[in-house]
Amino acid sequence: MEMDQLVALCKRRGFLFQSSEIYGGLNGFWDYGPMGVELKRNVREAWWRDMVTAHNEQTAPAGAPGPYEMTGLDCAIIMHPQVWKCSGHYDLFHDFMVDCRESKHRYRHDQVWGRWVEARGQRFFVTTEALGHEGLEETEQRALKFFGLRAKNADELVWDGPLVSLTTVDDSAKVLGPEAKALGSLTEPREFNLMFKTYIGALGGEESAAFLRPETAQGIFVNFKNVLDSTRVRLPFGIAQVGKSFRNEITPRNFTFRSREFEQMEIEFFCRPGESPEWYRYWRDRRFRWYVELGLSSDRLRLRDHEAAELSHYSTGTADIEYAFPFMAQGEFGELEGIAHRGDFDLRSHMEGKLDPKTRPLEVEKDEHGQPRHRGSGRDLSYFDADTKERFIPHVIEPSAGADRATLAFLCEAYCEDEVPDENGKPTKRTLMKFHPRLAPYKAAVFPLVRKDGMPEVAQAIYAELKPHFNVFYDEKSAAGRRYRRQDEIGTPYCITVDGQTLTDGTVTVRDRDSLRQWRVPKDACVDEIRRLLAGEL
Ligand code: ATP
Repeated sequence: MEMDQLVALCKRRGFLFQSSEIYGGLNGFWDYGPMGVELKRNVREAWWRDMVTAHNEQTAPAGAPGPYEMTGLDCAIIMHPQVWKCSGHYDLFHDFMVDCRESKHRYRHDQVWGRWVEARGQRFFVTTEALGHEGLEETEQRALKFFGLRAKNADELVWDGPLVSLTTVDDSAKVLGPEAKALGSLTEPREFNLMFKTYIGALGGEESAAFLRPETAQGIFVNFKNVLDSTRVRLPFGIAQVGKSFRNEITPRNFTFRSREFEQMEIEFFCRPGESPEWYRYWRDRRFRWYVELGLSSDRLRLRDHEAAELSHYSTGTADIEYAFPFMAQGEFGELEGIAHRGDFDLRSHMEGKLDPKTRPLEVEKDEHGQPRHRGSGRDLSYFDADTKERFIPHVIEPSAGADRATLAFLCEAYCEDEVPDENGKPTKRTLMKFHPRLAPYKAAVFPLVRKDGMPEVAQAIYAELKPHFNVFYDEKSAAGRRYRRQDEIGTPYCITVDGQTLTDGTVTVRDRDSLRQWRVPKDACVDEIRRLLAGEL
């Protein structure tokens, strides 16, 4: 599948629109249309249900070291600015970027690639934003153009090394920017804080500056004590949160993959330090399985453990769940979710102050009276274990997923085309979205075959019966074949048709989206039939 085809379908059938489209759009922001809102809600709800409400704390799930509890939170998007100081986001949440003086475009320094080329006595670094084969081709074309050569003279170009990151290049004067015609148009890399800044209240001075949260996780850490005190949860337990996060990404791109406003689904799982490696492995595998169970079963999905060198200083393990999105170069994968063993870093930071990544244990700053100056909240975020009579700071396992990236992966995986016979038996191309029934915007569509002979009335009665239970769609316009195609394109797994036979024996046709299998059921049994189909019982 080409990405363009999916983007076009998303627009045509109301999954995704560019934000503020009638004003020319706003880069990095997206709106979910009538189908998209249902799809993304279903992704979120499947996550919440599977992780939180359907979790049974009485028994250990498969692969878990033991039983555990789960609960949830919904925190404010704007938090006390000190939260971001202590979490490290204020000081560390930077990307380096370069600006092109010629094209006026801005690029993330580590996402510009290029290779050294020499011809006609000149040597420079020709860049591209693409990787792999596409990147090689683009750099060749740009170098040819720069030297005024034709494709047949490509052997005049002498390449020195493979595609490498712009970060390896010291001399910006020797760089041909990704969209520039002249050398040296890129600025030196500059730091860029990814947090969106805003001002609280009417005054608007620096003292009222605040930030939109760049992740939902911190709301969970700062409420750790509140959850402990207001519920009876005991270790090990997890707190889940779904909500919007904002990052002023320098180069938003690839549809919703890298947006500036997006939604996260995060769990902070608190456990005893000695048990944390086992819990880490459980969550890594549990989260991977979740995507597989919802249909990302192809070899485009993978679980990648980070190398020791990639780990944060406090982490003993991190894994990414990745998907080979169609817009990525061959062999490239994009992150859907990260599962990190975070030790006691976060709770300790909010309790005692920001940890300096280079010094451990924590250096407590002293004030002029020699008293510790708390950069954290100063609140005790430790846990008292009533069984062992020990007090300690729990360790944290963090499965952190993106609702938009997951939705995009489900959209990419679902898209397919096949050929089916039309009403006259002629093979015709159809596009279908093979969503898992739990994720499909509509679970079923109800049609009268024709708009006469009492068929619409029967179909409307079935529709009314289904509606309180499932999101279903009623359609009596246009030819039956076209109505089926429209439902295939939005991924409705079942269509129920009232036809001539319904009027004589009271049965309707049920049609399966993927196999096109059709069978008959009594018209009064539709609710039960759809329920059993969705539950995978039939
Ligand atoms: P990336 O390296 O792709 O920027 P990240 O490692 O910074 O991602 P995390 O901070 O681990 O991402 O955030 C957890 C999840 O939130 C990611 O796995 C992703 O699904 C989602 N996410 C992060 N940034 C974005 C974004 N700009 N747009 C959409 N989703 C995002």
